[in-house]
Amino acid sequence: MSQPGIPASGGASTGLQAQNGAASASGSPYTNGPVQNALLSSQVSVSQGYNSQLTGSYPHLIPAKTLNPVSGQSNSGSSQTVSPLSNYQRHGQALYGPPVASHPVTPSLHSGPSPQMPLPTSQNPAATPMPSGSFLPGASVPSPSNWQYNYLSQTNHCPRASSQPTMTGNTNLMSPQYVSSGDTSLQNNVVKSGIISNTNNGSMVVHNSYDEIEGGGFLATSQPTNKNPTTSRSVGYSYPSLPPGYQNTTPPSSTGTGIPPSSLNYASGPQAFTQTPLGANHLTASMSGLSLHPEGLRVINLLQERNMLPSTPLQPPVPNLHEDIQKLNCNPELFRCTLTSIPQTQALLNKAKLPLGLLLHPFKDLVQLPVVTSSTIVRCRSCRTYINPFVSFLDQRRWKCNLCYRVNDVPEEFMYNPLTRVYGEPHRRPEVQNATIEFMAPSEYMLRPPQPPVYLFVFDVSHNAVETGYLNSVCQSLLDNLDLLPGNTRTKIGFITFDSTIHFYSLQEGLSQPQMLIVSDIEDVFIPMPENLLVNLNESKELVQDLLKTLPQMFTKTLETQSALGPALQAAFKLMSPTGGRMSVFQTQLPTLGVGALKPREEPNQRSSAKEIHLTPSTDFYKKLALDCSGQQVAVDLFLLSGQYSDLASLGCISRYSAGSVYYYPSYHHQHNPVQVQKLQKELQRYLTRKIGFEAVMRIRCTKGLSIHTFHGNFFVRSTDLLSLPNVNPDAGYAVQMSVEESLTDTQLVSFQSALLYTSSKGERRIRVHTLCLPVVSTLNEVFLGADVQAISGLLANMAVDRSVTASLSDARDALVNAVIDSLSAYRSSTLSNQQPGLMVPFSLRLFPLFVLALLKQKSFQTGTNARLDERIFAMCQVKNQPLVYLMLTTHPNLYRVDNLSDEGAISINDRTIPQPPILQLSVEKLSRDGAFLMDAGSVLMLWVGRNCGQNFLSQVLGVENYALIPQTMTDLPELDTPESARTIAFISWLREQRPFYPILYVIRDESPMKANFLQNMVEDRTESALSYYEFLLHIQQQVNK
Ligand SMILES: [Zn+2]
Repeated sequence: MSQPGIPASGGASTGLQAQNGAASASGSPYTNGPVQNALLSSQVSVSQGYNSQLTGSYPHLIPAKTLNPVSGQSNSGSSQTVSPLSNYQRHGQALYGPPVASHPVTPSLHSGPSPQMPLPTSQNPAATPMPSGSFLPGASVPSPSNWQYNYLSQTNHCPRASSQPTMTGNTNLMSPQYVSSGDTSLQNNVVKSGIISNTNNGSMVVHNSYDEIEGGGFLATSQPTNKNPTTSRSVGYSYPSLPPGYQNTTPPSSTGTGIPPSSLNYASGPQAFTQTPLGANHLTASMSGLSLHPEGLRVINLLQERNMLPSTPLQPPVPNLHEDIQKLNCNPELFRCTLTSIPQTQALLNKAKLPLGLLLHPFKDLVQLPVVTSSTIVRCRSCRTYINPFVSFLDQRRWKCNLCYRVNDVPEEFMYNPLTRVYGEPHRRPEVQNATIEFMAPSEYMLRPPQPPVYLFVFDVSHNAVETGYLNSVCQSLLDNLDLLPGNTRTKIGFITFDSTIHFYSLQEGLSQPQMLIVSDIEDVFIPMPENLLVNLNESKELVQDLLKTLPQMFTKTLETQSALGPALQAAFKLMSPTGGRMSVFQTQLPTLGVGALKPREEPNQRSSAKEIHLTPSTDFYKKLALDCSGQQVAVDLFLLSGQYSDLASLGCISRYSAGSVYYYPSYHHQHNPVQVQKLQKELQRYLTRKIGFEAVMRIRCTKGLSIHTFHGNFFVRSTDLLSLPNVNPDAGYAVQMSVEESLTDTQLVSFQSALLYTSSKGERRIRVHTLCLPVVSTLNEVFLGADVQAISGLLANMAVDRSVTASLSDARDALVNAVIDSLSAYRSSTLSNQQPGLMVPFSLRLFPLFVLALLKQKSFQTGTNARLDERIFAMCQVKNQPLVYLMLTTHPNLYRVDNLSDEGAISINDRTIPQPPILQLSVEKLSRDGAFLMDAGSVLMLWVGRNCGQNFLSQVLGVENYALIPQTMTDLPELDTPESARTIAFISWLREQRPFYPILYVIRDESPMKANFLQNMVEDRTESALSYYEFLLHIQQQVNK
């Protein structure tokens, strides 16, 4: 590679001037070609089945396997895009069909208020003749008294009347739609039945299955009927998969597939729809002239001020809110927005050319989490928003929803504050004091008794698998953590192994030893003795332990090289279907037998090319099976331990759509690759013992006028905007894109609320709610000032993964570059009065070019390297599934000098002193041969030791006499009885503790092969195929100043 060497100690710097000078000889990799206008397909939306009127009763238990077909817009895809649900009109039609036969009570058709309303995110006035000013659904309620919350109302239950399985696939309205697959054969998998409750006012409430019981959209009034319910919105309403910024209007060069900018205009834009005046709002009233920190107002010329990277971790911007509001706001680690000042209109957002979206880490482990146990969970009657700190109390008895502005009554029970034991101060209740809160859900949030924790392990035991020796590690780890598996007395466990056949293990209580049952018919897999294969862990613990002890030895002599992964997954799915749960699959090679068999597709010669690489699945088998799993509340986690190409692009679908996770240990071998063994052990421990939520759904609501349209993460989108998460884990992140559907001119604040309904491992139904509040602004400058560059970069990365898959890698790379060019051009032309030379950026975006350059060099999107295809796919999986903080670390690692650690500025945690060295720019310019530098790249830590590193560090930290004695492969630091050793180890341990995965530490000498990896992460330097930061800035400037 042309990477310059490390500058000699004290010698002339070979830094940016030398190496990063003039535009590169290797040619610009940034072709800024026209970006395809990948308008996402717009779906005709169908009615929601949210049936949210809570009645204090326990619904009928129904099989959990079905899903209301009318709720059916079921989008799947790595990012799952929906057009916001728009027509209010079809509600009722779809949902109130004849009752199913077993129904004890004939549901009457809806009278009065309809429980079906679109989501708050989906107002579509164009398609919705609404009474003027009547967004508040209450406006057309004939009798308000019908709408008093009455949890104690008499309730009759009846099986649902609405979802007739026979309707599926018949019409647009009724059939679930799959954005990606379009495969009608999938539809049956998402057909669910539900329950209708007949409330005392005669209106029917349909409790559909889990996907809807969270309470969905508007529980509102009957709406005017649309004569043409099938046309919800024109395609023009759909949002491009990449923000306007991507739609480069003036393609600087080549490829010529651009679409005229005019076609990119949003059909939506500001809407004529007027919302009811807000009236008094104690929050907005308290807004006053606030100003940012003066630093935040600076305009920076990046070509002059090149070192913009702060020496301490970059903090998210603080929304420009009154401190009384801000102090109640959601922690940005859990919930943040790309723009902390929300543009008032889509037109303004379009001008800014920045993506608008949310990044969530909803199930993050929290030290403090207020949990409310109350029979009354107070929610907006219209939009089902949970009461939160940003609602306003009109008086003691009424509160106004901050999402739809409906005025709601304060229930009697809510008047009493359990914390202060005072009556009459509802605004002091914990629900109104905490932006993050968890509710114990009463029975109406369940469709069946909470499922038991069920864990099924599926092991590859082919010759290849046995060779890697992984079974030893995994079984040992399971033995060690068996008592720590989250669960209770109901916990169930089971095991399947497979090679060319499938092996089941009967662990029935009373057996003297586990009994192996072999099924060799992989064409039509059946489950022998289903009742004894998933067993109660407590009752059969000894048998389970026996099995785990003997399993690694059972196949040591195997000669079976084939892998029937697909049939094994089918068997596992059948076994788990009645309960749901977590399936952990360990695979070491390309599946070769039966359904789901795959062929090698990787062409090593094309690894470095941005074109023609196989990022898409070669079969839809894994996706379809994942959707089956999702329907039965089964999540599949894939552990891929393979030295060879295993087509992760195809295999990964099994986890992506079932809300599982993918773990990848390339070249795992128990002897040859001890660091992978260590990594697997550590990560398994976390995996087996971390918190888990079962049969979960998540919905994100936002203030009326905003619309959520594209989701990123591992899940399956049911019913337009409900994320189906058979499992939820504390290490998963999600992102969504938004647009401004209606002008927000009448409001100063908007809110976003995520609600995650899940079953805990203790069998409790719980709801975790996060609410974020942000100001609305009317000028472009304010939008820029509030930009959150990390969130923007994270969202762009998610969008770029989609673009890579749907178009091409080079397209995605162009789009990333264009995002910078377009937003900075917009800034330059609109908010800078005099056109200064240089590359002028707002302070908030000072790191934008750097982070985008880092993304271009990230494993997901890089070119010119020999990145294996599976490694690239895995990196893309990580982009989609990791919380932002880890994604940023993987993209732009932190570099520290560590040979001179001191206690200055150190932090203290539990009597441990943790040094906090400054973060350095990622350039060899910052290295010196007489030092040692630690690079924290998220999943890997690299400690580069310079040739002239001080003797003190060598002996006191590394425990070696001289440089030459540093082992070629060193992946651990000795614990020496020296302060230097203690500091270094404390720092590294602390870094590791910050994350759920286990970063391997590599100590790197100058001659180490790993040095190339270290230098690869030097984002600011030029590599063979990528520009240096300085070159990149020049390129951006050139485009911006055109
Ligand atoms: Zn509301």
